[in-house]
Amino acid sequence: MSSAQIWFLTGSQHLYGPEILAQVASQSLTISGALDGAPEVPARVVPKPVLTDADAIRRVMLDASSDDSCIGVIAWMHTFSPAKMWISGLERLQKPLLHLHTQVNRELPWSSIDMDFMNLNQAAHGDREFGYVQSRLGVARKTVFGHVTDPAVLAATAVWARAALGLAAVRSTKLARFGDNMRNVAVTEGDKVEAERRLGVSVNTYGVNDLVAVVDAVSDHEVDALVTEYGDLYDIAPELRPGGDRHGSLRYGARIEAGLRAFLTSGGFGAFTTNFEDLGGLRQLPGLAVQRLMAEGYGFGGEGDWKTSVLLRTLKVMAAGLPGGTSFMEDYTYNLTPGQELVLGAHMLEVCPSIAAQRPRVEIHPLGIGNREDPVRLVFDATPGPGLVVGMSDMGDRLRLTGNAIDLVPPLEPLPKLPVARAVWAPRPDLRTSTTCWLTAGAPHHTVLSTALTSEHLEDFAEMTGLELAFIDETTTVRSFTRELRWNNAYYRLAQGL
Ligand code: MN
Repeated sequence: MSSAQIWFLTGSQHLYGPEILAQVASQSLTISGALDGAPEVPARVVPKPVLTDADAIRRVMLDASSDDSCIGVIAWMHTFSPAKMWISGLERLQKPLLHLHTQVNRELPWSSIDMDFMNLNQAAHGDREFGYVQSRLGVARKTVFGHVTDPAVLAATAVWARAALGLAAVRSTKLARFGDNMRNVAVTEGDKVEAERRLGVSVNTYGVNDLVAVVDAVSDHEVDALVTEYGDLYDIAPELRPGGDRHGSLRYGARIEAGLRAFLTSGGFGAFTTNFEDLGGLRQLPGLAVQRLMAEGYGFGGEGDWKTSVLLRTLKVMAAGLPGGTSFMEDYTYNLTPGQELVLGAHMLEVCPSIAAQRPRVEIHPLGIGNREDPVRLVFDATPGPGLVVGMSDMGDRLRLTGNAIDLVPPLEPLPKLPVARAVWAPRPDLRTSTTCWLTAGAPHHTVLSTALTSEHLEDFAEMTGLELAFIDETTTVRSFTRELRWNNAYYRLAQGL
């Protein structure tokens, strides 16, 4: 996404004459330049000529919508830009919109201000005119207010830009499912047509033996290279090391990794799912391979859970380059000691090492399900600190995101007999409120856990896509959350129309 651009649009009108419009253009470059130069904004901010009539506005919106490198548009009404001029353009814009409400000067020049200054610097009412027409048309957008030197302005813009990067990525994501969903599971099902309409993601199933053929064709040389890499990056259990009596299992794990990567690369896939019920000729359930591919940025969901895989891929793109990690996760079991209420999250094998607190260890242990050979996997604890979990449910008429702000903590005691990567966290505001709300929302057991993103990234993404987002945090009560869900049911059904 290094070629990603955000187009900076400045609104004005002909009334002011060429001299003023030249000043507007110059000051527009100052603002767009400040955003472009902000290291936290993960895309180029590209200034466009000042817009003074409906034809030019419509044209630039059509161009932004059709240009694959444009991930979104920032609009600022430097002067008064009569907003009926914007109707045609806004109705054609199909990229995320940020309305930047700012002005060039920070201090009001009390002693020198005259009517010329007033005429030039009137975003305070130009942007109100623009806000009106956006609301009248029902245009989804993020509104950001403040001087461009205000760190909060840059931070809010950067979050929006990351959400836009995530949207651009998911719109072109192809997801490969190896097998279908785990039999009889409800929450991992979903409407793939709605997902493609809403998010642009293409979800298709492949026979797992298509993958097995690629895995079996991996050369010993490729396996050797991966085994060497494992030794550099991880602590390897003695029995898995070269010469160890289970080294063959590590080599087969490497073979799965090389085969999976080749399959995904050749098909242009950004995300995938597996299902332990449908492993065909695979001799191990993919564990280590899935963990390492997640760390490379691939989306993944277990048991055929393509919705969580899509979400993981999207959030990994949003989080690229930020401190922290982002992983597939599952709420597994609780610590209910009063005052120490915690969730222990893990999966059978597949937790991403981007959240690892220490150098992961490659281990091999029996796995009761899947009916295959013992799988190799990375074992570690998650890094403590603030984070979130978020899951996607298909409510029948729409896709709902439910999120929860959490605080990851070290395990209260070592877990010497637990042979999987895991995370321990305290949900906000507390476990009782969080779980009551989560279950009331019908939110899933599979989630994406991220210590890189905040609720604001999810909010911006939900606004861009029209997805419902119900977020549980330190301000949440069961009563308020239950009402919010009830209102959302009405809103999202009405918003769909007939
Ligand atoms: Mn699962």
